[in-house]
Amino acid sequence: MASENPNPDSSIGSTATLDPRTEVLTRGFDPRLSVGSARPAVFRSSTYVFSSPEAAERAFDLMAGRSTPAPNEQADLVYSRFNHPNAQILEDQMVPLEAEARAAIVFNSGMAAIMTALLTFLRPGDTLVYSTPIYGGTEHLIEDVLTGWGVSGVAVPAGSTAETLRERTARINRLGVILIETPANPTLVMTDIRAAVSLAASLDPRPLVMVDNTLLGPTFQHPLRLGADLVLYSATKYLSGNSDMIGGAVLASEASLIAKMRSKRSLFGNILQPDECWMLDSRLPTVGLRMTRASENAGHIAAALEHHRKIARVFYPALLPPGEQRRVFEAQCDYPGGMMSIELRGGKRAAFEFLRHLRLAHNAVSLGGVETLACHPKSTTHSGFTEAQFAQAGVTDGLVRLSIGIEDWRDLLADFEQALEAAGS
Ligand code: PLP
Repeated sequence: MASENPNPDSSIGSTATLDPRTEVLTRGFDPRLSVGSARPAVFRSSTYVFSSPEAAERAFDLMAGRSTPAPNEQADLVYSRFNHPNAQILEDQMVPLEAEARAAIVFNSGMAAIMTALLTFLRPGDTLVYSTPIYGGTEHLIEDVLTGWGVSGVAVPAGSTAETLRERTARINRLGVILIETPANPTLVMTDIRAAVSLAASLDPRPLVMVDNTLLGPTFQHPLRLGADLVLYSATKYLSGNSDMIGGAVLASEASLIAKMRSKRSLFGNILQPDECWMLDSRLPTVGLRMTRASENAGHIAAALEHHRKIARVFYPALLPPGEQRRVFEAQCDYPGGMMSIELRGGKRAAFEFLRHLRLAHNAVSLGGVETLACHPKSTTHSGFTEAQFAQAGVTDGLVRLSIGIEDWRDLLADFEQALEAAGS
């Protein structure tokens, strides 16, 4: 078996006009290569038998970049740190879910995806501009690791206007990457992807625009359509959706960007393993259903809690008042999604009592699962922040982040209401 994917074109984008919901089940998968199985089999081999010594030589020439593939050429598989059938199938089936994507690459965590993207495209002496607050691991990677390798990180507050972004980047000499995480966690501040793209387009050389789309993608926010170069995911979240695996992915319209990352992934050894690829692949056809249901649930709950006497503020995109944040939300998001935060009157004590009294929702970090999770960002996910960062990011003592799942929203609301009562005044 040369490869699970007999159609070389499908690894760089499909020409078919199928709806993504269809293509996610059909693209890049040939049941004949999975002994007739209607859904992909798992291929756990670490190494692959070559069809001939010449094919082996050719596979190594292609892998090392000494040759370029001929039209319709499909090289033999070599070794599973480089590539394997389940990664190929998963990457092919992920592409139709991301608007405008033509290639995908999967990793064994979201952090592996982010790290490989940054290490592929940044060089010593470059500057990386990133929105803040950003996922803690990403910030740690930039400020504590990349700076040691000669890459400077410049943090720009999430929600900055195009003018602020331009001012903050005006004197940067070699801007290599603009990395945006939007909406920002945990207060869901929206950063304007188009503004970052137009800033990048005005610079020479043009920096790459990368968007961590974990919170609203691939269903509700489409950064490639807005001109971004790379979309980054913690697939641990909505893409897998069951809080039972760790994974990451990067997608692009320009297949050559993904090809550059492949050679780094082969070296770093951070490809997603066959079993996890198979699991994640089985979750892709339902990601839209799960995210839509979670978003509808969150919408009902946010509206019901907005004026609750024990809550000072509900952070949810659909509740944004008219203004710049609302404009950005409406311009770049189809739906508000399943993430929200509530700020309890009564500070940390009330927040902790609320979490302690939840009966259906679990007190856990992470997000995007079918089950509802709740956490206290200030003492957990964001506990490494300085006081200035807490203030700037709006992370207060009473803030609780909720990842709403696909349970019945009335049951969840009743659970939150009883926990709020128990939380005292
Ligand atoms: N990006 C965001 C927005 C996240 O929330 C996370 C994890 O929580 C990551 C990236 C890192 O992903 P992983 O934990 O899969 O490495």
